[in-house]
Amino acid sequence: MRELTLSIIKPDATRRNLTGAINSYFEKAGLSIVAQKRLMLSRSQAETFYAVHKERPFFQELCKSISSGPVVVQVLSGNNAVALNRKIMGATNPENADKNTIRKDFGVSIAENSAHGSDSLENAEKEIRFFFSEMEIIP
Ligand code: GDP
Repeated sequence: MRELTLSIIKPDATRRNLTGAINSYFEKAGLSIVAQKRLMLSRSQAETFYAVHKERPFFQELCKSISSGPVVVQVLSGNNAVALNRKIMGATNPENADKNTIRKDFGVSIAENSAHGSDSLENAEKEIRFFFSEMEIIP
């Protein structure tokens, strides 16, 4: 089934000029980038975006890290895009990620793991709405 999912290229990756390299992983695997923009998240926007994690011990570190530099937010489209994108990214901790995944190839640590991807269709819809208006998404 064709789905849309939200992806974020995190500051650790934009800082190392890896936007194009990471985008090629999505495109090679059959996902299309149907919306994309580069922006800075304020600390308070980061806290809103990651609100589901607010009870987790690493919440402050996570919000600090995602607002520490530019991010590239993007909408990916394709068959089973949510699960496929999670596969392309690899496990949360780069040490445990499969080879040829974004996090294995580019991640520095669990905190600086280069990419975010929605974990369910329901969250994908919410996360896409957080960053994009309808007219910015061109399937
Ligand atoms: P994801 O869906 O694979 O991104 O993983 P989670 O939803 O569990 O966590 C969200 C993000 O929080 C991850 O991408 C990591 O960057 C970060 N994170 C997860 N676990 C830890 C941890 O134990 N320590 C730190 N510092 N960050 C973590």
